[in-house]
Amino acid sequence: MSAEVALIQLEREVLRTASVGTFLQQVAALQVLVAMASPGLKDALYALVEPKVEATTAVAIRQAFDIGAADASRLILAGTTATALSSWDVAAPLGLGAGIGGLDAAATTSLLTAKQLATVGVDAAVYLAPVFGFADRLQRTVTREIIGGGNTGTVTIAAAENLPTVWIAERNACVVCLAYAGEVADPGKQFPGGLTYGKKSYFNFGVVVPPRHDRCRCTLEPLVSMDYAGALKREAQRSVLRGFSLQSESMAVRVDATDRLLKRKSLDAPKSVIAYAQAAVNRGYYTRRTPVPPKA
Ligand SMILES: [Zn+2]
Repeated sequence: MSAEVALIQLEREVLRTASVGTFLQQVAALQVLVAMASPGLKDALYALVEPKVEATTAVAIRQAFDIGAADASRLILAGTTATALSSWDVAAPLGLGAGIGGLDAAATTSLLTAKQLATVGVDAAVYLAPVFGFADRLQRTVTREIIGGGNTGTVTIAAAENLPTVWIAERNACVVCLAYAGEVADPGKQFPGGLTYGKKSYFNFGVVVPPRHDRCRCTLEPLVSMDYAGALKREAQRSVLRGFSLQSESMAVRVDATDRLLKRKSLDAPKSVIAYAQAAVNRGYYTRRTPVPPKA
């Protein structure tokens, strides 16, 4: 199992855990009730259980770190997770998990605020906004910290072996993450800020480890061969040219990225892929966002 899959499973486990899972389920039920303009909304709000997430997430971040470290050890063939586990002490002062501080207090505040607003006769959408806002922050934070924890584990092991790390993006990643695919950072160095296949980014700060943005699922690997980094870059460019993407990304952004990439003199892609991409630009959209499945 790849580190990426293991990290996503870990993230789901945390979000399913006891009070967190119950809270998120109740919030989802509230959203349905709001949509139906149900009269039972206030009762549901008052029954809402306050999630306690910091302790659970802290344990998960440490597990994520170990997953990243073990995966890196396997790739380096250094072999043991003994290095990985002891490296936590090196990584812990890096501020790993700092983002979860205050989540429990924020949960209490959001519920209290919602309940107070509910007593003064405002619309349900207004008094529930603090709860919905917190649920969103909760999910984003857990994802960010766990994926970041795993990648920090990878970086820590790679640095211990004095190896650079290489950025891995999913095939249907966004135009920003695809621009990071195949990027290499030397031990102790950051990835550059501002990379994208799209419109110029004003985010110009270096990136220590992915996630690069909310819901980013990019991972790192210790780089053993520069050829691999080059291959990842070519693959990412092909993903741009083929329009592989998620529905959440706008079609206009993808077509614009393809147009920009086609204008690069250094572009290295098969003629058929370039023709496919040019047709999409001329048309103004891609007819599909996923690869054509092989015929059975
Ligand atoms: Zn990403």
